[in-house]
Amino acid sequence: MEQKQQTLPAQKNIALVAHDGKKAALLAWCNKHSDNLRKHTLYGTSTTGHLIERNTGLDVIKLLSGPMGGDQQLGAKIAEHEIHMLIFFWDPLASQPHDPDVKALLRLAAVWNIPVACNEVSADMILSSPLMHNELKRSLPDYEKYLATRQVIL
Ligand code: PGA
Repeated sequence: MEQKQQTLPAQKNIALVAHDGKKAALLAWCNKHSDNLRKHTLYGTSTTGHLIERNTGLDVIKLLSGPMGGDQQLGAKIAEHEIHMLIFFWDPLASQPHDPDVKALLRLAAVWNIPVACNEVSADMILSSPLMHNELKRSLPDYEKYLATRQVIL
């Protein structure tokens, strides 16, 4: 599919998710970067979001818990261009009952070309980029063009 250009805003909508074995790491990361994160709008799966609010004082728009559909809600918001960035500390040392949802969330982040970090150092690098506070150009699939040129073969 052809690509088109779009701009992510300077003030970003950031999704925050951590599996149980990684929640402490994400809370520590949020505390470390709370001044920076406060400038953006934060979304999270339910348990992660509640813990961040309780432990950091940051406001989080909370969706369903990941295993109950929260990962899929975040994926839908990425596809609808509402979420601009994903910080997802998934646990590489534990299996998850909702593994298909985890894969789907990471897949949609790749389809729509948003910045993704799956561990602390990557998240540190993304957050220290000047692009965190500026508009960021991204290419993404041009589905409208694809649809306009699509022919039905009978
Ligand atoms: P939780 O979901 O924040 O509700 O624990 C996280 C996940 O497993 O996706």
